[in-house]
Amino acid sequence: LSTAVGFIGLGAMGNPMVVNLVHKLAPGSKIYVHDVVAYFVDDLCTSYPNSIVKCVNAKEVTERSSVVLTMLPEGVHVKSVYLDPNNGIIAGLAPESTKLLIDSSTIDTATSLSVKSAISTAHPSTSFYDAPVSGGVLGAVSGTIAFFVGISSSDTNLPGMTSLLSLMGGKVIPCGGPSLGLAAKLSNNYLSGIITIAAAEAMDMGMRAGIDAKVLASVFAAGTAQNAICDRFNPVPGVCPKAPSSSGYKGGFRVQLMRKDIGLAVGMARRVGARNVLGAVGLGVYAAASEEEDCKGLDSRVVFRYLGGRED
Ligand code: NAD
Repeated sequence: LSTAVGFIGLGAMGNPMVVNLVHKLAPGSKIYVHDVVAYFVDDLCTSYPNSIVKCVNAKEVTERSSVVLTMLPEGVHVKSVYLDPNNGIIAGLAPESTKLLIDSSTIDTATSLSVKSAISTAHPSTSFYDAPVSGGVLGAVSGTIAFFVGISSSDTNLPGMTSLLSLMGGKVIPCGGPSLGLAAKLSNNYLSGIITIAAAEAMDMGMRAGIDAKVLASVFAAGTAQNAICDRFNPVPGVCPKAPSSSGYKGGFRVQLMRKDIGLAVGMARRVGARNVLGAVGLGVYAAASEEEDCKGLDSRVVFRYLGGRED
């Protein structure tokens, strides 16, 4: 496996992904890291002084690594980290460079394609792939996140990428070609975000009619409404003891991120000409919940609270 891996973006997801690399890469491997927040870099360097090397910018990370992973908030950050002509990844690529660049951020497909195109025009033998993830911070910590990769199953980079990504995740799914990992991720989050709202409404309705929340969840699990949100991330506190809803909606997948992803999915639907009637409703609910004092910053399943569900 690679002995020089770069990682840019050491936030809620990037930090535990790097920690998994530290423990699972071959002995002697180095991880070259950068984040605009110096504390995130210093924290990791202090914890793993033999494995982690601090770099001043994305350019230096790229110069010193054979594979570079990025885990950044939004498309605007991805664009600048990759394409900044002075400090960006592109500035760290030598003319004949054969590096592998993997972006795991959840961003819009158009930005991802434009970054890929800029890189491959300037450096035809360097490869860029979108590889967003699902599974949240807990999945990143336990190394069980799923990677949805914008790569065809016949691409010769697939085996190497699968080995590397498997050190941080449980599943690596090739989705067909450039930007299709993102298309898959946005379709997945659209579905889970909309299901969450429906689950919150259905739980509230049944509970108000007099059914116990756990009984209602077991009915859904046995019936045609069976779904992963109700089974594992039920929005009603107490139904799933390990779900964020049972710990005051702390941890999990922030409501602001769901708002972002539904927005990206609605944008993608428009671009590809897909009709989607629930997108506007979903976007409205998550946008409003993101602004409410008792919901913002919490797990997206807090829409149950936003919709007025009973939490006692
Ligand atoms: P985060 O905000 O916690 O981390 C992003 C990191 O990128 C931060 O540390 C930030 O300082 C750094 N950064 C921003 N601009 C930079 C730049 N120009 N150069 C270097 N570093 C820079 O976000 P996160 O929760 O880790 O999410 C990252 C991505 O993964 C997002 O696109 C998100 O939608 C996606 N995602 C998040 C989760 C989750 O549960 N948090 C789950 C799946 C996917």
